[in-house]
Amino acid sequence: MTGQVKAGIDIGGTGTRIIIQGNAGTLNSKTLATAEFTGISKERRSEVLADHVLSLIPQGMTLASLGIGASGPVDTTAGVIHNKDTLECFSFFPLADELTKKLGVKVAIDNDAVAAVLGEYCFGAGKNSHRLLMVTLGTGIGVALLNEGKPFRTSDGQHPEAGHIPVSGNPLTCYCGLKGCWESLASRTWLQQNLEALLPTIAFEKHDVHFYQKAAQEKEEVARIFHRYGNYLGRGLVTLLTLYGPDLTILSGSAAHYHPLFKSGLEEALTRSDAYAINKRIVPSELGDIAGALGATVIPELT
Ligand SMILES: [Zn+2]
Repeated sequence: MTGQVKAGIDIGGTGTRIIIQGNAGTLNSKTLATAEFTGISKERRSEVLADHVLSLIPQGMTLASLGIGASGPVDTTAGVIHNKDTLECFSFFPLADELTKKLGVKVAIDNDAVAAVLGEYCFGAGKNSHRLLMVTLGTGIGVALLNEGKPFRTSDGQHPEAGHIPVSGNPLTCYCGLKGCWESLASRTWLQQNLEALLPTIAFEKHDVHFYQKAAQEKEEVARIFHRYGNYLGRGLVTLLTLYGPDLTILSGSAAHYHPLFKSGLEEALTRSDAYAINKRIVPSELGDIAGALGATVIPELT
């Protein structure tokens, strides 16, 4: 094979996924445990990561660029990750510059939420969208917005931390310092804790949407938890839809596939009178876990 390939890396607290993308699609991929890198000296981490990338490039082909999506905060201008909480091993050193030196190509780093929305926009459910909102429902809530394919950023270059907006009816103080954050009511964590409290003998992560659909039919309290979850999700989402007016919203993350179960609660929270109607086109992610690494291949083209 000849020609050029683009590489994308999605670095998360648990896994680091590398994808090699050719003109016709994905040529190769690999997922490493991020913990592997904590055992390597800081000076050698970028070198080892670069070697993994090179090992995946088909013979005869050359690397054109490398994009990285990482759980942030990320200084996109300097190409440095600043995540002392969940990604310390790749933080606080010039990762992009070191990789550029090693690989001889442009390397750009952005937040993983930005990488994932770019993935859906270029390769998944968000194709043809002009203003695309993506909400990731995992341990917390991640939000990213693209306008004509360009990420919305705050004045200091960050992506909006919209999981941390206060919503009504939440008295809890969040670790971010605010009282009543959206993510403490609408992340997967809330759903999991409440289902596990109701069904203590059933491990949440071992069951899928079909299991809980049946459980909701048999036990009204289960249906009620999903309805409440949809309602909480809608309380923050209605603010984002009103402010940003996206033509499409993608739900991703490990709670998103329960959409059929929480849809009624979500609908209820998003309902407004006709004159104030908002675009409620909401679809699940098409790419799932690989959105971040695929979208990362596009990050070097943003600047
Ligand atoms: Zn918060």
